[in-house]
Amino acid sequence: MSYELCAMAAAAARAVRNLQSSSHIFVDLEGRKLGCEEGALSVISVGTALARKVYVFDVLSLNMADVQPLLDLIANQETLKIVWDGRKDAIELRRTFGPNATFGRVLDLQVANVVSRPDDEIRKYRARHPLNLICHYDTTGVHALTALKSALGLHGVQDNFYSRNQPVFDHNAWMDRPLPRSYLDYAANDISLISRVYSLFQQRGYVSSGSQQRPELEVQSSRYINMHLTPIPKDDAYRMSSLMPLEILSVPDSNESTRRECTKCHRSLSVASFTYRVGPTGSRGATGVYDECKVCYLLSERRRLQEEESTRKGLLRA
Ligand SMILES: [Zn+2]
Repeated sequence: MSYELCAMAAAAARAVRNLQSSSHIFVDLEGRKLGCEEGALSVISVGTALARKVYVFDVLSLNMADVQPLLDLIANQETLKIVWDGRKDAIELRRTFGPNATFGRVLDLQVANVVSRPDDEIRKYRARHPLNLICHYDTTGVHALTALKSALGLHGVQDNFYSRNQPVFDHNAWMDRPLPRSYLDYAANDISLISRVYSLFQQRGYVSSGSQQRPELEVQSSRYINMHLTPIPKDDAYRMSSLMPLEILSVPDSNESTRRECTKCHRSLSVASFTYRVGPTGSRGATGVYDECKVCYLLSERRRLQEEESTRKGLLRA
């Protein structure tokens, strides 16, 4: 696929002018351990509608003044920014460029994907489903997240690029200059993939019904990507996981007096998120109100079961 590398002021300015005339843009960030405490931003890839034009902004080579018009476009409330799981991207923008570097009007296709899918209550019994190991637990209202590379396949569409090329990347090499060609290709290709997922979701009515946009998806998307705004500490398994965090899809209870902070993911949530039944079905676990939210409880149980399983396998081998 063709794309333009923007590493000089003139190219960046021209790219932003083209992007400004698009009704919506696709945005994706790449770097070393994006969103984590030891992370750093390398490039911002942006595409116009249908990914007709794709630009890779080399933020390490550009001056702040050259990047600012792009940041303004990303932060504005008019142009719709379309992302796939923008949680880490939102953290990284803020860390690199300060608190005004936000996503403004945003649609996260990860959120649209969860909303569109049939119930995980049935799918969780399948091997390799993120809820499979805890399928006998109370998982009502908890949904599995999907990697961008699996999104088309999940909806029955073959993705030729990733079935042919399985790139293996060294995270640190994202900070090298000149950036290897394969890294630039990868960054640009993600924009084309997000655009294809968006077109598919449009056809299937997941992101709009008829000519009507679905504004609630934008509210949910904003809630989702702005959930954690500080970089995630190393080994934190709760702030970023393969499960949809609670109170993203439902309207959160705004009654501050009944909200509390989860001891694991540190989000302020309403009492309903702390109320669940512990243990697998048939065990003596009781429904109660706990200190960790339901998703964090399920994550810790899943980890415990994984460890048990690997210990058992180790013993079998011994
Ligand atoms: Zn939690």
